[in-house]
Amino acid sequence: MEDRWCNACGCKFTPRAQSPKQTYCPLAECQQARKQVWQQAKRRSDPDYSANQSEAQADWARKHPDYWRSYRAANPGYTQGNRSNQQVRNAARRIAKSDASAGAIALQDGIYRLQLIGADANSDKVVLVRLTILGKADP
Ligand SMILES: [Zn+2]
Repeated sequence: MEDRWCNACGCKFTPRAQSPKQTYCPLAECQQARKQVWQQAKRRSDPDYSANQSEAQADWARKHPDYWRSYRAANPGYTQGNRSNQQVRNAARRIAKSDASAGAIALQDGIYRLQLIGADANSDKVVLVRLTILGKADP
C-alpha cells in the first residue's frame, strides 16, 4: 500500500489494507476530524439524519439540564471564546445580508484583528494585521 498524506494533519501514513481509500491517518484527532467532515456532509444531505441528531441532542439536554451551566462555570475560557466566535458569525451574517455591490465592506487602511474561523475556531488565536488598500476591484 502506497503512503499518503493525511487530510487533517498533513503527515505521511500508510493506509490500512482493509481501507484502501483511507485519507486520514489513524491519529485520534484526525479520525475525529474525519468523522466531523462526514457528519457535516451527512447533516446537509440527509434531512432524516439531521432531524434524528437534533432530536437526540434535545432529548439528552432535557435529561441533563445542568450540564452546560456547570460546564460554562468550570470553563470560563469556553464562554469567552464562544462569545467572540458568535460576534464574528453575527458580523459575517450582517455582511452577507447587506448589499455588497453598494460597497458594504468599506475597508480602509488600518490595523485589524484577524481571527481564524473554522476547524480551529475555538482557539483564542487572534493576530493583528496592518491592511493597506492598494486599489478597488470592479465587482
Ligand atoms: Zn493525521
